Amino acid sequence: MIIITQPNATEEQIERIVARVREFGLDPQISRGASRVIISVIGPEDLAREKPFAALPGVEGIIPRLKPYRLASTEFCPEPSSVAIGEVKVGGHEKVALISGPCSVESQDQILSIARTVKKSGASILRGGAFKPRTSPYSFQGLREIGLRFLAEARKQTGLPVITEIMDARDLSVIEKYADCLQIGTRNMHNFSLLKEVGRSRLPVLLKRGFSATINDLIMSAEYILSEGNMNVLLCERGIRTFENSTRYTLDLNAVPILKSKTHLPVVVDPTHGIGLREFIPQMSLAAVAAGADALMIEVHDSPDLAKSDGQQAIVPDTFAELVPRLRAIAAAIGRSL
Ligand code: PEP
Ligand code: MN
Repeated sequence: MIIITQPNATEEQIERIVARVREFGLDPQISRGASRVIISVIGPEDLAREKPFAALPGVEGIIPRLKPYRLASTEFCPEPSSVAIGEVKVGGHEKVALISGPCSVESQDQILSIARTVKKSGASILRGGAFKPRTSPYSFQGLREIGLRFLAEARKQTGLPVITEIMDARDLSVIEKYADCLQIGTRNMHNFSLLKEVGRSRLPVLLKRGFSATINDLIMSAEYILSEGNMNVLLCERGIRTFENSTRYTLDLNAVPILKSKTHLPVVVDPTHGIGLREFIPQMSLAAVAAGADALMIEVHDSPDLAKSDGQQAIVPDTFAELVPRLRAIAAAIGRSL
């Protein structure tokens, strides 16, 4: 890292900074400019980064030399990587994938009928929650293993690979029996022990951005999974909390080009949770493809008013069917296909 001193830093302050660098077992290399002194700190970057140099008198700023993430970075892998969910590849330059299905798996008939209709309209991956992270412990918590069985049956009948949320590492082995991709929800993006567990899974992981997490926080959480050896990670922007209260969250489409410039990992956008209002899901879906998303995740329910979770933001199959050709047109306009 590099420490930059303030223009009016005194010799005494500079000497104290240099001495502190040495005390920590690091090697300071000093360059004196016209108004500032630049101290390059030579030694393990991780060690340097955790020392409180920024708090020393006379320090103006710290520039880290390496990015804090490694395996997710474009330096590690300059080309966009693609991740296989079942036999569907997500990421790379060309294709945009469509992940669709209900918020929760509610019954065999419900998941089968939604799976069939979204497949017919162009979805290539089926979503559905069997373990649901609900704000209230009194709300529907999901069908658990029965829901997973229904998902696997829907895959058998439609050929769509399935993605489902894991909330607890103790459920990993049962979920691995049925699913093609694990989803880490927004509330668990900081659950580092869960991230490490899924990092040891053979299944790919769709990691949702915490609703109060920065883009860098998201990448660092991905790094937890990657560093355990699971290189099949997809990042998902699903809306963040801001002061804006006319929507459920604020879908941060800025994150799409930023993530794609910082990492090689596929970027998924979930406009459903991002805006939380059924009537505006199509607009935000189109915008997400235009921004460069490698996949969209859209909640579809055949009777949203009766849905056991997130009915207010689910679109009906007809709306989804009308949306897909428009998404294709946007994808074509930016040289991709869907
Ligand atoms: C979901 O996908 O249904 C879900 C709970 O998502 P999130 O974790 O983004 O709220
Ligand atoms: Mn949902």
